[in-house]
Amino acid sequence: MQEKKPISYAVKFFIFSLLTALIILTLGVAYGKFVEKNEYSLPLPSSTNFDEVTIVIDPGHGGEDPGSVGADGTLEKDLNLEIARLVYAFCILNGTEARMTRTEDTLLYDYYGDLKDYTGQKKVYDLKNRLKIAEEEENALYLGIHMNKFSQERYSGAQIYYSPNSEESQRVASNLSKKIKDYLQPDNNRKIKRADSSIFILKNIENPAILVECGFLSNENELKMLNNEEYRAKLALTIFASVCEYK
Ligand SMILES: [Zn+2]
Repeated sequence: MQEKKPISYAVKFFIFSLLTALIILTLGVAYGKFVEKNEYSLPLPSSTNFDEVTIVIDPGHGGEDPGSVGADGTLEKDLNLEIARLVYAFCILNGTEARMTRTEDTLLYDYYGDLKDYTGQKKVYDLKNRLKIAEEEENALYLGIHMNKFSQERYSGAQIYYSPNSEESQRVASNLSKKIKDYLQPDNNRKIKRADSSIFILKNIENPAILVECGFLSNENELKMLNNEEYRAKLALTIFASVCEYK
């Protein structure tokens, strides 16, 4: 029995090494594929045309609020966070200031810890706090990341909303809409939409702001694509390239 210990450590070490090697290999292959398949020749902005503007990236929903749910159980809140993380990473690598409203699977109603009772109002405080975070940055562009869902399965494609409070919002939205059509979804003829009061943050924010519904979880094919890592990277890259052209 006593001799078993060193063996089990050795086995554990072996398994750990094997797993680590596999993870590195998998990531390497995935990255290689992404770079190799660069028929996706999206021009990327240089960091020099973009100073002192902070991109506030807001992955919608979180925690007890999953957002829309796909037929296969995919949760909107998870996809939102995945894509937001990628956009954030691209910004940081590019030298663009960026901030995430949430980096974890949580709602933000208790973000500031300043109220004691949220009963029945979690969603209200969550949105208020996201707005507050977005407005903490003086020179910022707000970018909300969401997924769409509809009762009929046939609808697909990204839909972009812009804040009615500034002209720049509309400009950023049309730029992104054009890039998505040119580089990612040639059949997407959706027009950008001016947000009404149903989109609380866009309606109330002072900074330029857009919200991207990245795709429809109710469309089988689009749901499959959104669950694909490479597709998400392309989508995030397109969003990043477009918001970076804001100034
Ligand atoms: Zn949503």
